[in-house]
Amino acid sequence: MTPLRLHNTVSMQVEEFAPIEPGHVRMYTCGPTVHDYSHVGNFRTVLFQDLLRRVLESEGYRVTQVMNITDVEDRIIRKAAERSQPIDEYTAPFIDAYHEDLRTLRVEPAAQYPRATRHIPEMVTLIQQLDKEGHTYVSDGSTYFRIASFPKYGSLSHLNLSGIKAGARVDVDEYSKEDPRDFVIWKARKPGEHFWETALGPGRPGWHIECSAMSMKYLGETFDIHTGGVDLIFPHHEDEIAQSEGATGKPFVRYWLHAQHLQAATGEKMSKRLKNFATVRELLAEGYTPRAIRYALLTGAHYRSPLAFSPELLKAADSAVKRLDEFAVRLGRISVDAEPPAEIKQRWDDALRDDLNLPAAVGHLFEFIKTFNTRLESGQATADERAAAMAMLRHANRILDVIEFPQALNAEVEPLIAEREAARKRRDFARADEIRRQLLAMGIQLDDTKDGARWKRIR
Ligand code: AMP
Ligand code: ZN
Repeated sequence: MTPLRLHNTVSMQVEEFAPIEPGHVRMYTCGPTVHDYSHVGNFRTVLFQDLLRRVLESEGYRVTQVMNITDVEDRIIRKAAERSQPIDEYTAPFIDAYHEDLRTLRVEPAAQYPRATRHIPEMVTLIQQLDKEGHTYVSDGSTYFRIASFPKYGSLSHLNLSGIKAGARVDVDEYSKEDPRDFVIWKARKPGEHFWETALGPGRPGWHIECSAMSMKYLGETFDIHTGGVDLIFPHHEDEIAQSEGATGKPFVRYWLHAQHLQAATGEKMSKRLKNFATVRELLAEGYTPRAIRYALLTGAHYRSPLAFSPELLKAADSAVKRLDEFAVRLGRISVDAEPPAEIKQRWDDALRDDLNLPAAVGHLFEFIKTFNTRLESGQATADERAAAMAMLRHANRILDVIEFPQALNAEVEPLIAEREAARKRRDFARADEIRRQLLAMGIQLDDTKDGARWKRIR
């Protein structure tokens, strides 16, 4: 069997995957900063994580996934203060909206969604541990991580750090640091800002320390997979490694996976800062379906390639989903449990095992559907073959989760269809039509084909 292989940002190679504990994968994903609604770019990364998780599950692993919620940072504090709201009150609607969007997009729920504001003691303990190991210094009441104390720094991002100036997310401006690359882990209280009274003094955590503290709390000091968008590689994930390994002396994460960005139509990264983004709710209001949005973000490009977002992408996704639905309807009502045809299942699985190549897998699936449709049209497909094709569709849908299958009929409908068949056989078309109308009133539409009556639910 082809092993599952995943691209690891650390080695810059596609590597064979094996979890620390056989059969169980522990995975952390950097979640949203809830200062606003998340945009579809954020959800591209979320859907990449959903793909990864479903492929792992399809490979037979149990997956424990933890996704944090960043509910304290500069923008949140500023915006809450502007509205004279406590930060919890300010973030609540965005956290609710985020979970609602996850459900809309059929993202499998994580085991935990820990919030930064609920883990201040864990962060303080971790910072004290770093202090004990000699990785920190205090300046103007803020605590910094001393990069010079961690020689491995830079191993994830492969950056030549000698030339690095302080970046936007490194928090240099208001604080005095020994080295411009050092980053803040505990920020001193500023007038008018929300703060926590702790052993480190009054203040609040830096962004990076929350992920170190929460991931290790829920997944252990060393775990299997850590993911996010490529913008998080540096400095966020580099800093997480420094903090976690600096404190524990153990390897933090085995596999780092990063998704490329969703780009706006103009070609630049979709971002809240550039105000060129669309939210899931805006797209729904424009009439796009949740399934089309999910399909577009999931299959539009391999996760390590940028994806350009456009109405055309969504329209293509919408028609692809319809083709899958139609195929399911054409296969008809199938009750037997069957195995998918070996060849197409192999091609589908192999593509996914090759660093989650879903676009290739979907290409194979549509080729299969096209060929099978020809057989259906010429009446060559046997009932067993139809059952096998349906099994393949269900297999693919464990990952895609966009197909609406004809549902099993309820006890009321089943006898009516049988009675209508009998009426047609004895050429009692009046009775047959009557039953057709009765079914229609129940939301079931019948189509007579040469293989017998097919039905679909119209509402
Ligand atoms: P944020 O809410 O900004 O903390 O970001 C949440 C997640 O979305 C992170 O994993 C980011 O890397 C990811 N992300 C941000 N912008 C984009 C984008 N345009 N395309 C894909 N992922 C993104
Ligand atoms: Zn994080």
